[in-house]
Amino acid sequence: GPLVGVLALQGDVVDHERALTACGATTRRVRRAAELAGLDGLVLPGGESTAIDTLARVTGLRGPLRAALAAGLPAYGSCAGMILLAAELLDGRPDQQTFGGLDVAVRRNAFGRQTDSFEADLDVCGVPGGPVHAVFIRAPWVERSGPSVEVLASVALPADGTTRAVAVRQGVLMATSFHPEATADRRLHALFLESCVRR
Ligand code: GLN
Repeated sequence: GPLVGVLALQGDVVDHERALTACGATTRRVRRAAELAGLDGLVLPGGESTAIDTLARVTGLRGPLRAALAAGLPAYGSCAGMILLAAELLDGRPDQQTFGGLDVAVRRNAFGRQTDSFEADLDVCGVPGGPVHAVFIRAPWVERSGPSVEVLASVALPADGTTRAVAVRQGVLMATSFHPEATADRRLHALFLESCVRR
């Protein structure tokens, strides 16, 4: 199977490793630039995007990681990982940076206090076999996206029924507001691994 890195600066690294391994991938924890070499894909886990941003800068990983993404490394970000892949961040900390790559504007902690954390069954484009049980934990949403971004899933806000994009794909980049790694459903990881062909 493909060799998939899991960014292991902070967050739910082990849950992603478990999901990827169950799908037939080999995983490698990525904490420094040298560990990016030879990867077929990279997962950016859920956690705290401000902490991951800070650690990536302190360790010197930020520059090489941005370069790898720009060079076409397939990547999947869940929750904080979605924030880190966004070209534009709304409601970030004042000095907070992202790695970029995805042509989206993502609003951090977007769902607000009433729906801080919630679960919903969502139909996801490209995922056969019925809805995905999606776990949202202080999740972001995609507020705007460019023309090359495909919205894979949206969720309706309880307040007014309007919808927000919570799963997107642009070429070999994918991101979800929710945490498939927190459930036993491996279909989102399997979908991502379709982009991680052995090189
Ligand atoms: N709210 C977190 C952040 O801003 C993301 C939460 C999560 O990954 N579950 O990074």
